[in-house]
Amino acid sequence: MLRKIGIEAIEVRKVQQLSKIDGLIIPGGESTTIVKLLTRFEFIDHLRERVTSGMALWGTCAGMIVIARELADPYPIPLNLIDISVARNYFGRQVDSFEAELNIEGINGDPMRAVFIRAPIVRTIGKGVTRIASTDDGQAVAVKKGRVLATSFHPELTSDTRLHALFLKLAKEAQKDPRLNRSSERNIGSI
Ligand code: GLN
Repeated sequence: MLRKIGIEAIEVRKVQQLSKIDGLIIPGGESTTIVKLLTRFEFIDHLRERVTSGMALWGTCAGMIVIARELADPYPIPLNLIDISVARNYFGRQVDSFEAELNIEGINGDPMRAVFIRAPIVRTIGKGVTRIASTDDGQAVAVKKGRVLATSFHPELTSDTRLHALFLKLAKEAQKDPRLNRSSERNIGSI
């Protein structure tokens, strides 16, 4: 999806790569596993430092769970990179996956088709966090604070690149942020 909108994206496998990127996407998957791996490969401190310095960050589905402040479940321990509390698997099991049309603040034109797979919802939102999309029954499924974006669904599973383009804007802003170390090649990465 990133390449489709002309971004030179890299897959982040080593913590040192975090210094080379202006934006990071933590994708869907399984949040307990992602947190275990981030811990084992010693990503957490450096990731926190980069985000505090203004790097753009986007957590989708399991990624949203990973970056939340608090979860309804005891596991995993989330990273607290955006002030939201999140309920995992809110809509039920794999068979309860669904698609919905969402109006998302900041996205012009038609509503976006969103794919929800064992998706979480945002239960509570802290100061300064904006809800940018809700389901028909009023559950918050996309939020944003500064350059940190969290979405419950899988934006890579349709051909609509509008949310990726919005994230690109945040990464471009980050690129100009003097708090992030400059280097000649800058990218968006994905764990
Ligand atoms: N239910 C998964 C979890 O708790 C997330 C599912 C997904 O990323 N599609 O981590």
